[in-house]
Amino acid sequence: MSFLEFKEIKKLVKENAPEGKISKIDLEGPKIVLYTDDLPFFIGNNNEVRRLATLLKKRILIRSTSAKLMDPEEAKSVIEDIIPAEANIVNIAFDVNFREVYIEAEKLGLVIGKQGMTLDEISMKTNWIPKLLRSSPIESDTIRSIRKTLYDSGELRQKILQKIGKNIYRKPNSECDWVRVTPLGGAREVGRSCFLLQTPESDVLIDCGINVAASGTSKFPDFRASKLAIDSLDAVIVSHAHLDHCGFIPYLFKYGYEGPVYCTEPTRDLMTLLQIDAIDIGERENNPLPFTAKDVRKLIRYVVPLEYNEVADITPDMRLTLYNAGHIIGSSVVHLHIGNGLHNLVYSGDVKFGDTRLLEAANYDFPRVETLIMESTYGGRYDVQPKRKDSERELIHIIQDTVKNKGKVLIPVFSVGRSQEVMMVLENYARHGDLDVPVYLDGMIWEATAIHTSYPEYLKKHIRHRIFSGYNPFVVDTFERVNSKTRRGVIESDASCVILATSGMMTGGPSVEYFRRLADDPKNTLAFVGYQAEGSLGRRLQNGLKEMPIERDGKTVALKINMGVKTIDGFSGHADRRQLLGYSKKIHPKPKRVLIVHGEAKKSMNLALTLSDMFKFDASAPQNLDTIRLV
Ligand SMILES: [Zn+2]
Ligand SMILES: [Zn+2]
Repeated sequence: MSFLEFKEIKKLVKENAPEGKISKIDLEGPKIVLYTDDLPFFIGNNNEVRRLATLLKKRILIRSTSAKLMDPEEAKSVIEDIIPAEANIVNIAFDVNFREVYIEAEKLGLVIGKQGMTLDEISMKTNWIPKLLRSSPIESDTIRSIRKTLYDSGELRQKILQKIGKNIYRKPNSECDWVRVTPLGGAREVGRSCFLLQTPESDVLIDCGINVAASGTSKFPDFRASKLAIDSLDAVIVSHAHLDHCGFIPYLFKYGYEGPVYCTEPTRDLMTLLQIDAIDIGERENNPLPFTAKDVRKLIRYVVPLEYNEVADITPDMRLTLYNAGHIIGSSVVHLHIGNGLHNLVYSGDVKFGDTRLLEAANYDFPRVETLIMESTYGGRYDVQPKRKDSERELIHIIQDTVKNKGKVLIPVFSVGRSQEVMMVLENYARHGDLDVPVYLDGMIWEATAIHTSYPEYLKKHIRHRIFSGYNPFVVDTFERVNSKTRRGVIESDASCVILATSGMMTGGPSVEYFRRLADDPKNTLAFVGYQAEGSLGRRLQNGLKEMPIERDGKTVALKINMGVKTIDGFSGHADRRQLLGYSKKIHPKPKRVLIVHGEAKKSMNLALTLSDMFKFDASAPQNLDTIRLV
């Protein structure tokens, strides 16, 4: 299917839609919006919309013209009559711009009805389109505030989406006869991932992160050398919510970018949480980031959420699809179809190609692939991780030994991903009676967990089913939430416990605070379950640091590190060497070229060499600012 301009889309709709049924055709981001005076006709004949969607190969939204909309008050009582009381409706709100009625309820299944019959009945009777919001089993401040931001700015957001749509389906100035990619960060390093993808027509950024463990200019992607014109970018794509992939996006909005940010809904919510937190930490530590919460709020309005496997045109010569990456909730492998059959690029983002408790393994089957850009965090020769089962057993043994000695176990974790993965491991042991001390959750873990429980459809099947059937494994007695006020009690208590605290690499936050208090007691254990970047405190401790200067009561004193320090491999959300090779072998169809990124220089280069040898790929590990011509 070739790329279409808006006028061609309009022509196709006019020629193929049922006579006289469409009164206006509009664009909202990549979606085509059709307005009709006869919404019940399209609800009753939903194959008509499907036929148009297949013809155009685009998502189509069908909406009533405003004249036919039922008055909201009246519609509200009609809806309350239609939906069974057992669904426990929490809220009903109308957005006149999108002709949508948001129904928030506890039992969404009952709202939907058999094959969506209840929803159809609502549309038929009121001409509003119902949108369902699940009330989260754990309240999330982030989700509430994002939903409010979007709801309050409905009119503005519609204008934004229309503008984005006009840009996507514009008349192209030039034919797509070359494609090139430039890493602006994240090549031969872990952190600040950012890739500029260009054709004669389009400029697109894939990821735009910060390196939290770095200082100075190497903290951010290098926009200077590429002479990047931020305000003329067409689109930004975010693979997942970790700051090394999305931490610098608010900067784009501060400096004039007013275009779309494509990602999954969980990515949008988690990235908001992490960006706001990074801004707060920067301010607290007198090392502010070059943007503020205001820029994050602006960014939220420009997010165009995509589901996995949903195909979306994003420029006149690029078509985007996100696939599950298995790394954290909502994480994506990015597939781009460029030009009319000219080139297909797959960007792995951070990828896990193996079993975890939370997520399915990464997708490896694509319509077409010529170039693969792949991460290599654990791509080094010796980065073979133990089996998951063995790692879980090792963790529980470390905990049981420490508890026997009446000590505390501190596990520094990323708030997003590792926390929930380790929580599911510990919940499993607790349920089977192998863990009987409290597990304290400090830092943003609770909030990140709340966001996880709001998107069960992105989690592994059996967790999803457990949540739907009323047993939420994230909300069990084993887990207790701690905040800055109750933290002291946990530290000073004589009782054994497990503490999960952020940040994961001990670059700041509660994990460092616990460490300072627990470090000198040999009964305690510090257990690492995630990647520790070069330069981070975590890495220095792994390397055997025995003493460090700290500030205490205004004086610098030496902190003796007597607690046990253990590293348990195998919990990583990243594919290890074996899985990366497995992914390269399995990916279908077989790419011609592989670019290795997101790894320490030696590891990236070694993996590239191995891939050239083993699979005869044209594989290399580019440096930042190397421009690689793909076509
Ligand atoms: Zn990541
Ligand atoms: Zn990463």
